[in-house]
Amino acid sequence: MKEKILVTGGAGYIGSHTCLELLNEGYEVVVVDNLSNASRESLARVEKLTGKTLSFYEVDIMDRAGLADVFHKEKNIAAVVHFAAKKAVGESVENPLEYYQNNITGSLCLCEMMLEHGVSRIVFSSSSTVYGSPETVPVQENARIGATNPYGHSKVMMEQVLMDTGKVNDWDVVILRYFNPVGAHDSGEIGEDPEYPFNLLPYVSQVAAGLREQVAIFGDDYETPDGTCIRDYIHVVDLAKAHVRSLDKILQKPQGLLVYNLGAGRGYSVKEMVEAFRRISGLEIKAVIEPRRSGDVPVSVGDPSKANKDLEWIAEHDLDDMVSSTWKWQTKYPRGYR
Ligand code: UDP
Repeated sequence: MKEKILVTGGAGYIGSHTCLELLNEGYEVVVVDNLSNASRESLARVEKLTGKTLSFYEVDIMDRAGLADVFHKEKNIAAVVHFAAKKAVGESVENPLEYYQNNITGSLCLCEMMLEHGVSRIVFSSSSTVYGSPETVPVQENARIGATNPYGHSKVMMEQVLMDTGKVNDWDVVILRYFNPVGAHDSGEIGEDPEYPFNLLPYVSQVAAGLREQVAIFGDDYETPDGTCIRDYIHVVDLAKAHVRSLDKILQKPQGLLVYNLGAGRGYSVKEMVEAFRRISGLEIKAVIEPRRSGDVPVSVGDPSKANKDLEWIAEHDLDDMVSSTWKWQTKYPRGYR
């Protein structure tokens, strides 16, 4: 067995897919999750799919004593993959304190615990939202940082905390800036299970499944070829694999700070995504044009070439894989893990 990895938020959407890849690669996996936006069932399925077991602790990372207990029991943690965070942009605007509390306080608590227990490697779940409205696309890692909402600010702040803490303590810090994660595991056994689908693809998927009547396209008057916003969608399994590559790299030899964009490097418009879903599901999927959603940038596409090169990683799944795996998961489990 390879090294022991602590995965915070491991029961969530990206976390569960990453746990699966880690187990498949022979890593020992310890998950800490408060199950606030996740289900224990996702990990039961990960264990079934891989034929391996992981350790699970229902602990909130803001719970210092609970977290200390995990670090105490699980000796020899080689690295942490830190997903646990709140992630809804709109909600973060409505309730910034809750976002700063969770995403900052929780992460600080985790970092302190790492220091206390001599754990010096961390892979951090960041977001393309740190770029705000990029001046040029595809955006590179050295682009200007400028988040536009509390969720994004919390990611920018934590990146800085990790850079400062890592520097003085000789940590290996990998900051992964995700573009738009979509899709589900090819088995259809694990996927995204939002309480309410704020993101485009889960929403379209629920419309296709007849759970919602129509999808609203937020604005068709942007300066893009078809007037709707363009995003760089990345399959969650590709994303998960990038975490494994990152760990492989920092466990092999010290790397200091590494920052990578994780995207496919090409964009699709909202209309193209809806159209792809219609084609693959064979269903009509009613869509109506509504006003722009505040805070949306017209185009967000990442340049993943740094990750492609350094991590020997590439987004292998195409648009059809993203949509068909989403649809498979949706039809297999219409109510997600409930
Ligand atoms: N979008 C939409 N209808 C929806 C949800 C999203 O038209 O019900 C659009 C949104 O305005 C953006 C794109 O789809 O242009 C992707 O939005 P999402 O919330 O999935 O991700 P974001 O890029 O905001 O992180």
